[in-house]
Amino acid sequence: MQSDNREKILDVQGLTQRFHLNRRQVLTAVDNVSFHIFKGETFGLVGESGCGKTTTGRSILRIYEPSEGKVLYKGQDVADLKKAEMKAFRHSAQMIFQDPYSSLDPRMTVDDIISEGLNVHFPHMPSKDKHDRISQLLMRVGLNSEHGARFPHELSGGQRQRIGIARALAVEPEFIVCDEPISALDVSIQAQIVNLLIKLQRESGLTYLFISHDLSMVKHISDRIGVMYLGSLVEVSDNKQLYTRPLHPYTHALISAIPIPDPDKKSMEARVELQGEVPSPINMPPGCKFAGRCPYAMDRCRKAEPKLKEIEPGHFTACYLYENEDGSLKDQSAVMF
Ligand code: SF4
Repeated sequence: MQSDNREKILDVQGLTQRFHLNRRQVLTAVDNVSFHIFKGETFGLVGESGCGKTTTGRSILRIYEPSEGKVLYKGQDVADLKKAEMKAFRHSAQMIFQDPYSSLDPRMTVDDIISEGLNVHFPHMPSKDKHDRISQLLMRVGLNSEHGARFPHELSGGQRQRIGIARALAVEPEFIVCDEPISALDVSIQAQIVNLLIKLQRESGLTYLFISHDLSMVKHISDRIGVMYLGSLVEVSDNKQLYTRPLHPYTHALISAIPIPDPDKKSMEARVELQGEVPSPINMPPGCKFAGRCPYAMDRCRKAEPKLKEIEPGHFTACYLYENEDGSLKDQSAVMF
């Protein structure tokens, strides 16, 4: 196991989130997920829609109460925080939402939207200072103080997401969950918002959990990446290793599907078309959740779920292709994948 002395701002241990749909049916949206995020880095969380990425982000911020597992923020279990400590956590850990169209109150002006957090966390701030702070925030996100008097419907999608970012920044957080912050925006605007997030991170040393289904955007912004499939983490790696040598067959399929911008440049590998059905998260069969779609599935894969293991330094995957029947790791040069 690789040792890393960097400071962990977040340590998620065995996080599980179940939702009781009715008396008999339970949906496991997040299933025993563990990962950590170092201070100042961006951890990308990717996977198809409905794989549990957003629920993971919300459970970390205590928008949902986790069914099992721990979330340590700066070494402290968030479940143990007293009222004042919880207020400090909410101050330090913010969220940028997926849909800027619905996450901003249409009856409030931009000034009022940004002031909300300031009113809660800095109740004694004089109005002039508050006004100055809002103007500075609008400038930082590429707008100006005139936008403060407008309502959300008077702004474009990109401008609305800039307001969502300014609102999160207002209380000077250290950690931000960016939940699909670009997926509702035009493609032409997406790169601008991602570049703004990168600029803000450099200026303020922010740490991001960047949730997205778009692997090409995650590649652009993330230092390390976790790949989720049906509520489980199937691969965790640094950015370069993941895109040059994906270990899990699901990651391999996702990466092979990224469009190549230059038509003269062929993809290094052929696109992997996934066959088979996605099992229901309400009635999950035993074994690897990906077995029904995996071209390499073996008998063993349908019996017990593989655990996330470190295959090479800092590169983890949950797949039997890399381990012997006794759980020891295979000679990696002999793995035909
Ligand atoms: Fe495929 Fe088996 Fe690996 Fe699952 S454990 S991804 S079914 S080879």
